[in-house]
Amino acid sequence: MKIKDHDFKPFITAEQIRQAVQTVAGRINADYKKKEPLFIPVLNGSFIFAGDLLRQINGSCQVSFVKASSYNGMASSGQLKTLIGIEESLFNRDIIIVEDIVDTGLTLQRMLDELGSLGARSVEVATLLRKRTAREKGIQVKYVGLELEDEFVVGYGLDYEGLGRNLTDLYKAHPRA
Ligand code: 5GP
Repeated sequence: MKIKDHDFKPFITAEQIRQAVQTVAGRINADYKKKEPLFIPVLNGSFIFAGDLLRQINGSCQVSFVKASSYNGMASSGQLKTLIGIEESLFNRDIIIVEDIVDTGLTLQRMLDELGSLGARSVEVATLLRKRTAREKGIQVKYVGLELEDEFVVGYGLDYEGLGRNLTDLYKAHPRA
């Protein structure tokens, strides 16, 4: 399949994703039984994961989206372009940041730094996908759906140059010849 100038091949099916989401939700349901977490999904990439995950959460909870982005094309630029959102007070709240994918962890680190000063009782991270870089760096992510190497993926909310977010399966970029 081609998106703009690049070839992508099938990688992870919608069914595999569904199972991974269910597993993450099950763990969160067990851990937050007597709590009322505030989910903070990071737009744009996590909108589909957040939608599917939240529908599997069975206790009382709130959701507040933020927007952050450090990507330009296929390589992490390391610069967070925007961080907007959160109207709720985070004081004494149990926060769960919802990410589509953690790669270098820079976006997440920046989020954690910003949230750290706002008095939350606890802050954990749920991500659908985690790349090898993040594992090697030892970035703390409590809930991980699927582990990847360092392939670039599109679909299920993740884009390549703004396209492909609507794909229900995940595709990975063919290395350039
Ligand atoms: P990090 O700051 O961890 O390097 O990157 C985090 C953000 O970069 C993710 O939330 C996501 O938007 C984007 N990103 C990282 N890896 C990929 C990838 O393989 N595909 C796509 N489409 N976006 C990615």
